[in-house]
Amino acid sequence: MTLKIDIHVHTTYSHDALITPKDLIFYAKKRGLDGVAITDHDRIDGALKIAKETDFLIVPGIEISSLNGHIIGLNVNELVPPKLGVDETLDRIHEAGGIAIACHPITFFKESLKGHISSRFDAIEVINSASFPFNYSVRRSEEIASRLGIARVAGSDAHYGPEIGYAYTLVNAESTVDEVVNAVRKGLCSPYGRAIPLTMRFKKELLLLKRKFG
Ligand SMILES: [Zn+2]
Ligand SMILES: [Zn+2]
Repeated sequence: MTLKIDIHVHTTYSHDALITPKDLIFYAKKRGLDGVAITDHDRIDGALKIAKETDFLIVPGIEISSLNGHIIGLNVNELVPPKLGVDETLDRIHEAGGIAIACHPITFFKESLKGHISSRFDAIEVINSASFPFNYSVRRSEEIASRLGIARVAGSDAHYGPEIGYAYTLVNAESTVDEVVNAVRKGLCSPYGRAIPLTMRFKKELLLLKRKFG
């Protein structure tokens, strides 16, 4: 079957995100998604907890702040620490049974891997809805993926409920975490999506300020 999965979503377990577990499921269903990967910054506890509490397909993941840029690990069941080099981060993800994704590899205002991407990655997030400038980063990321011959995925990088599903990956797999991750590893997936509208991003920033200053 073909599953529609947003592989890059943050929850309130990330210091800079507004998405509660309830919002996550609500917006994912509203967007017609079959599953989401929770990829909070440098922590896995929220993803594992939320995955246990719902029947909705949740791929537990983590967005790791490596020394050379952000790296997503999917289906990791233990914490991969931040501030390691790229190779060691990839080793840790693979040892934990997960797959490694070069997220937003080429973009401004985010910690991007740029020249540190190699075929040791299992996939590249060629569409990231929060990338800037959007079209440029999609084009450059596609070039890298085809040069290295690795799988292409897409995620919204949502930090606010309504942003969920602006990008998604179609995965040919049965609806389990292991099947989804194996399918991505084999490249049985394709990326779709668009940029999050600026008005929505401003609204999110306002809500974050409001939360910070009450
Ligand atoms: Zn990031
Ligand atoms: Zn992110």
